[in-house]
Amino acid sequence: MWNSAARFGRHLLAASLFGAALLVTLTVTFSGTTSGVFSSAAAAPAATAATVTGVRFGDRSKTLTRVVLDLSDKVQFSVFTLSDPYRVVVDLPEIAWDIPKISSVAGVVKQFRYGLFKAGNSRLVFDVEGPVTVKKAFVLESNGGSGPRLVLDLEKVSPAAFLKAQKSRPRPPPAPSASPPLPTAPPPSSSAGDVALLPLAPGSGDLAPGTPKPPRKPGKRTIVLDPGHGGVDPGATGKSGRFEKAITLAMAKELKKKFEATGRYRVVLTRNRDIFIRLRGRLAKARQADGDLFISLHADSIKNRSIRGLSVYTLSETASDKEAAALAKSENKSDVIAGIDLTYETPEVTNILIDLAQRETMNLSAHFANLLITDIRRKVKVLHKTHRFAGFAVLKAPDIPSVLVELGYLSNAGEERLLRDPKYRGKLGAAIVAAVDKFFAWKDNMRRS
Ligand SMILES: [Zn+2]
Repeated sequence: MWNSAARFGRHLLAASLFGAALLVTLTVTFSGTTSGVFSSAAAAPAATAATVTGVRFGDRSKTLTRVVLDLSDKVQFSVFTLSDPYRVVVDLPEIAWDIPKISSVAGVVKQFRYGLFKAGNSRLVFDVEGPVTVKKAFVLESNGGSGPRLVLDLEKVSPAAFLKAQKSRPRPPPAPSASPPLPTAPPPSSSAGDVALLPLAPGSGDLAPGTPKPPRKPGKRTIVLDPGHGGVDPGATGKSGRFEKAITLAMAKELKKKFEATGRYRVVLTRNRDIFIRLRGRLAKARQADGDLFISLHADSIKNRSIRGLSVYTLSETASDKEAAALAKSENKSDVIAGIDLTYETPEVTNILIDLAQRETMNLSAHFANLLITDIRRKVKVLHKTHRFAGFAVLKAPDIPSVLVELGYLSNAGEERLLRDPKYRGKLGAAIVAAVDKFFAWKDNMRRS
């Protein structure tokens, strides 16, 4: 989760209904040597060359905020604004981040996040306190000791002026990418069309779209592990500044090792590096992998810093309590966070037959959750009401038993320390593997009887 979660949550519905309509581009009126939405194409560096070394903010006037990105090399970029909530999005080629100290925001900018949006495309998202237009956007040449800088001037405008600008602007240009366009192979299926294009790391167990489904090894079950958040969506921030996206990925890698060591499981990760994946992309991966069990990993954050403990969620159409509903809202907002519309609902999910399959899957999921909690509560501290029900989008695979594990609270200093500790993750991992063993033994028994 994230400190502005509630605000995003409230906008979920609006975003999903009007997502595409809300996309606004600002064709920036550049002064000086650049024109159009991109900086000079001749300035584009070779792939992976550039690093962002700093992000700075300053008040130019009451209504004008300047944002400066310090760069190692010149880059191409595009910038556009979104409403509901108001954001400014900067798309860059895949770029490295080396920002030793996060500078405090100023002016109209409330907070910002950055990361890999998809292979070949990094993204920065600035949350702004109201409607703005991008008055200027340009890249400054290196100057003496300092490298090139990307400068944005954001001007506060009225909602009416924002809307007017929206009407007169073309759609945002495609994100600049340092790599040439990919060969035009059709996506494997319409539902998998949104899977980010990941390079296939050898032995990673990860699937790239278009890769034929690996033949199922007889006897081996496929576990799909889904490290929550990633890339431009950091998830919750821990007491020590560690991001949820890093902790969930570390836990997934630990689990993968443990599952594979048994020889009984094949493991697929929905992401195996720090990259943004849309919610429906995660589901598509699980189905493409022909998963037998889907485990989504998260780590929560809450105002009350004394609360700690693990909890397990399964899908419910109506969330069990207010707290669970709030958490589901915040976890479901990831597509909004990355600056795109929330369109994880596929037509399939609304299909009535799938709904029936989902009911059966929900029962299986609940049974697995119970087994998991029984095993895990002997090993680690769990939350008082350990098994909870909520409407998580990522749990909506109609035919794969799915649970979402909130590993603990990053807002609790002690628990955050534990979650950063490989030894603790090892203990947690062993308990999860033991529960999965029991689940499949139970399933096999059911089939025989
Ligand atoms: Zn999360």
